[in-house]
Amino acid sequence: MTGDTIAAIATAMSASGIGIIRISGDDSMEIISKVYRSKGGKKKIKEAESHTIHYGFIYDNDTMIDEVLVMIMKGPRSYTGEDTVEIDCHGGVLAMKKVLEAVIHAGARPAEPGEFTKRAFLNGRIDLSQAEAVIDVIQAKNEYALKSSLSQLKGSVLTSIKEIRSSILYHIAYIESALDDPEHISLDGYSEKLAQTVEEEKKKIRRLADSFDEGKMIREGIRTVIVGKPNAGKSSLLNYLVGEEKAIVTDIAGTTRDVLEETIVLQGISLRMMDTAGIRATEDVVEKIGVERARAYAKDADLVLYVVDSSIPLDENDEEILEILRDKKAIILLNKSDLTPVVTKEMLEARTDMPVLAISARQEQGVELLEEQIKSMFFAGELSFNDEVYITNVRHKTALEEAYQSLTMVENSIAMEMPEDFFSIDLMNAYEALGRIVGESVGEDLVNEIFSKFCTGK
Ligand code: GDP
Repeated sequence: MTGDTIAAIATAMSASGIGIIRISGDDSMEIISKVYRSKGGKKKIKEAESHTIHYGFIYDNDTMIDEVLVMIMKGPRSYTGEDTVEIDCHGGVLAMKKVLEAVIHAGARPAEPGEFTKRAFLNGRIDLSQAEAVIDVIQAKNEYALKSSLSQLKGSVLTSIKEIRSSILYHIAYIESALDDPEHISLDGYSEKLAQTVEEEKKKIRRLADSFDEGKMIREGIRTVIVGKPNAGKSSLLNYLVGEEKAIVTDIAGTTRDVLEETIVLQGISLRMMDTAGIRATEDVVEKIGVERARAYAKDADLVLYVVDSSIPLDENDEEILEILRDKKAIILLNKSDLTPVVTKEMLEARTDMPVLAISARQEQGVELLEEQIKSMFFAGELSFNDEVYITNVRHKTALEEAYQSLTMVENSIAMEMPEDFFSIDLMNAYEALGRIVGESVGEDLVNEIFSKFCTGK
């Protein structure tokens, strides 16, 4: 279906236990039979059955290259849907390159980045959202990102989109038939029914589209900033979270210095710590700096951790910070809870809606509370992925928003009692916008762009 036969090294280009050379296309079996010889030299690998493994050697003409295992997977029961061969060779960079060269001498062409997955898509093995999930699985940086990508790979996004589309398609078809055959198919009272469907499908689309922000945070991490006055314990907190002492922590305000950017993974959730250098750089004894920092970062951060020294009274700087954080997703960390409290949880709770947690950065107490709090603030307390579908791709989000708009137009047309063929146009637009998510009616340019993000051999 896709023509020539491609080959690439599928594993990392560094010395490792094994390396895998992947071959896919109509000539795969022909090519492997040219380069493979079994131990006794008798085996005809070309006649091997699908899904079998063969021990032997790879030759480039008459030169023996490596000792290998060869896996035969005939189409359509393979990743790409085509005849596929994988050669497990020794994982040295040179060995892998030599085996690849032999395969290319035997007639394969070097694969472009993502070309195997592109073929899987073009051959209908996976839809576009699944193909994109493949990239995400490879790039997943934490457990939840991996889980959500795997669920997308299994087809969770595809399934949701399919359901919505089929319901829209039903109405497009109904209107068409009714207009064609008004004697038998009546449109009396139809618009109420349509309005109901549109409302339901819009809700589903909204939920999917809104899952994007959450999905993005799952994938890339929650952008988190630590604010608070000098000496409150920001640097100590950061160290506690990072789990090792990377910064200098001293009793004199403003002597912590270090330049680091950290991502902290708490129970599978990534916190991307913003400007940790700022926390660890010289912080003036000027209390005002805490306020400035809060002001500067509150806008960009998904989450603000506001560290308060509970052993000293609040002052006007704290008042200002509280004010700045008023409508933000912020958690007040009442630090130094090991000392005699001057500021209590109750005092703060009485005057702000922000959650207040008592912690001790020095004694490393309170991280569990913080983890629970973050989960409940960002992921509605539960990150199960059993039934929740997350959109993690901006391309999907855009298409969903477009479909939503089109359905809103349908609603407007219904409200304005427009003729039924008006509904069809916007229903069709919604249908097509959703189709783009799974790879229907997408242009070649877009397909190429998506697959170019892959690494070679995938
Ligand atoms: P920053 O200026 O906000 O980064 O504050 P630091 O992390 O440098 O901490 C200032 C001082 O408070 C240091 O002496 C820390 O050891 C101390 N400190 C930080 N957290 C705690 C805590 O939970 N309990 C106590 N008793 N001292 C703490």
